Amino acid sequence: MSNTFEEKLTAKQIRPTAMRLLVLETLSWQESAISLSELEKSFGKSDRITLYRALKTFEEKGLVHSIDDGTGAPKYALCPDGCNCDIANDLHVHFHCNVCGETFCLPSYKIPAFSLPDRFRADSANVVIKGACARCIQPE
Ligand SMILES: [Zn+2]
Ligand SMILES: [Zn+2]
Ligand SMILES: [Zn+2]
Repeated sequence: MSNTFEEKLTAKQIRPTAMRLLVLETLSWQESAISLSELEKSFGKSDRITLYRALKTFEEKGLVHSIDDGTGAPKYALCPDGCNCDIANDLHVHFHCNVCGETFCLPSYKIPAFSLPDRFRADSANVVIKGACARCIQPE
């Protein structure tokens, strides 16, 4: 079932450059969503613009989604398999831990269906629940 990183890119019509493969691999290790600065740190001396462009390409092609968790810096996370970032079907709830500062995807918790006033159109939705994550409530 598990595709190689290269297959994941080509499946989304993204040309698998060495840099993009590295970014995808790094994202796949993350337990929580990661900001551009955090990504930059794990890349040593790689240039920020290149990383930013890779993230933007991934986002446009529906490989990652960005999360506005209210901290000021957008965070990025890989989309679950089969996700098209479709507002009616694919968007899930995010959780921001006020204790450790991490932001988690909760892919099995979908944003509930909502209705809008006449002639209003939704383009995106962002549900972020804030609190304390399991790790912070029960430290090992
Ligand atoms: Zn998505
Ligand atoms: Zn926490
Ligand atoms: Zn997410």
